[in-house]
Amino acid sequence: MRPTETVAPSGATPRDPVSPGRDWAQDLAFDRAHLWHPYAPIGGSAPPWPVVAADGVRLVLADGRRLIDGMSSWWAAIHGYNHPALNRAARGQLRSMAHVMFGGLTHGPAIDLGRRLVDLTPAPLEKVFLCDSGSVAVEVAIKMALQYWQGRGRPAKRRLLALRGGYHGDTLGAMSVCDPVTGMHRSFAGVVPTQIFAPRPACRFDEPWEPAAISECARLITAHQDELAAVILEPIAQGAGGMWFYHPEYLRAVRALCDAHDVLLIADEIATGFGRTGRLFASDHAGVAPDILCLGKALTGGYMSLAATLATTEIADTITRGEAGCLMHGPTFMANPLACALAVASIDLLLSGDWQARVRGIEEQMRRELDACRGLPVVRDVRVLGAIGVVETRSPIDPEWLMARFVEAGVWLRPFGRLVYLMPPYVIRPRDLSILTGEIRAALSEA
Ligand SMILES: *Cc1c(COP(=O)(O)O)cnc(C)c1O
Repeated sequence: MRPTETVAPSGATPRDPVSPGRDWAQDLAFDRAHLWHPYAPIGGSAPPWPVVAADGVRLVLADGRRLIDGMSSWWAAIHGYNHPALNRAARGQLRSMAHVMFGGLTHGPAIDLGRRLVDLTPAPLEKVFLCDSGSVAVEVAIKMALQYWQGRGRPAKRRLLALRGGYHGDTLGAMSVCDPVTGMHRSFAGVVPTQIFAPRPACRFDEPWEPAAISECARLITAHQDELAAVILEPIAQGAGGMWFYHPEYLRAVRALCDAHDVLLIADEIATGFGRTGRLFASDHAGVAPDILCLGKALTGGYMSLAATLATTEIADTITRGEAGCLMHGPTFMANPLACALAVASIDLLLSGDWQARVRGIEEQMRRELDACRGLPVVRDVRVLGAIGVVETRSPIDPEWLMARFVEAGVWLRPFGRLVYLMPPYVIRPRDLSILTGEIRAALSEA
């Protein structure tokens, strides 16, 4: 029996609580025929579930079912959905302007956001580039690094070193620093630049530090220092490339190697930023400041697409003195006022609340409850850091079966490969979190 048949993604039912007149059967047929979804074939065997509303930690499906959200819509919706403070910020901004170009103009929301980002991030990061998505923030970071070394008169330094198991986005430059195997570099050979890859950091976050864990990375940085512009990594917690947590000492060692060999350090905190790992930024676990920092995802509390790339004054000044005279980037929707206003409201909401206690509470509860998965025959590893909980299985489990099983049980989780993972909104209540962890355990014990 195919599980997708037991829980058909809700078709035309009279119970759509938001748009009762909508013909979902026809709409889903259109979706199936015409719309691409992330990393999915058009018209594939796993049709998406139609969602009509979201509120707090609940997603409301077209057939009226309410699912507990364990994904925060890919790390973003840290305050939950339909939040009054964020709704108010959006409405307030709409009264003056939704968007204006940023070329030659500026506005309050961008300035207010810039102030907050300069204040919150480590002291040397003082220059802010506001763009429209995480991938673009990574492109901007890479271009900053290349233009910096041109400005320093060392144009040969134009390659990047990245870590296996990393993920940095889907545009061509960002792809070049994603894990070459899971990023399918083979399909883009000759177009995606060839970068240098160090092994995935072997030493876990909570194990005793093992100095051998840095040796291959150290060898590569030393050997390639004349052509390396920067090391790019996700500090402490690797996300979409494998949900792996590594030792803060590794990050400190990379920082020291970069300093010793004239290489910039780019921290991609697009997934980890704004508290997800238990610190405001994951680099804080190691007390390390990068030269360039990428933020995104939770920046607007999940309301709109917005990202930021921060750099040191030295980098910005060197770029300005270089041949181009400025950073060669400027997207149409740069610093979109509506998105900036939401980011300001989301940051203020986060900092005015007890996010640390909440994330700690989620962490402790996930440790306790996911621990029960360890004994299951299909489970290889369980790991938790901050508000990220991961259960790794020994072999991949049919994701279509798993997701249908989860939806049937009233929870929203999107496993990939051998990873079933949980990153709920920080506002989730213990009872709802218990349902999520319980359903993971129940599903994996049936698998
Ligand atoms: C999601 C993600 C990106 C890409 O962000 P998009 O907004 O999807 O372009 C880059 N780096 C990391 C670490 C991410 O998690």
